[in-house]
Amino acid sequence: MIYELNNIKFNTKRKAINYVFSIIDDIGKDINSHQSVKQYIEIFDGPRFDLFIDVLKKYNNYYSLINSSVSYFIIVRYNDINYLYFMNDSNFKTKVDIQKCFSFKSKQNIVDVMFNTIKSQLIDYNDNNPKCEVCNELSEDIVIKYLLDFDSLITNFFALNNDIYIPETFRKLQKEWYFKKEDYSFKNRWYVYHKTHTHLKTLCIKCAKI
Ligand SMILES: [Zn+2]
Repeated sequence: MIYELNNIKFNTKRKAINYVFSIIDDIGKDINSHQSVKQYIEIFDGPRFDLFIDVLKKYNNYYSLINSSVSYFIIVRYNDINYLYFMNDSNFKTKVDIQKCFSFKSKQNIVDVMFNTIKSQLIDYNDNNPKCEVCNELSEDIVIKYLLDFDSLITNFFALNNDIYIPETFRKLQKEWYFKKEDYSFKNRWYVYHKTHTHLKTLCIKCAKI
């Protein structure tokens, strides 16, 4: 199986994981002040850091992690497994198993589940706004565009609700993943947030490309 991370191909999972750890090791050395992980993300850019973030995004509590304050992160080897530790001064704060980030099936990722939860809102919007909002044409090939992108909406939602319990397992329904009944308070809060904070635009394929 070939693993691909940001256009770099690895022939084994082990090699991909080792590569990510070498990047974490490099980045970790540069961090020495009290900032939220989110601020680091904004400071460090470039393909290597993007790759690290892409992997970290598969960690289920990513969105609450990036809004929390950490001093630095280090790699800690425990029972032959390398973990990524986020530290607050000398206290351990969050432990991330990078290996697990590689084994998550994308559909079980919380972001996908959150998207499935609000899909009906997009369909409703399209039903009420069937015409392209630029050229006013009624096209079969319509895209719904977020004025503030979906990822930022999610980040803002977690920043606002940093005390909320974040579900880690989901239920499968007709090949898609959804929140479990016991997690409906999370689901409902997200559903309402999305409804009130999302600004959409209907565009035909032609206008979407401009
Ligand atoms: Zn158009």
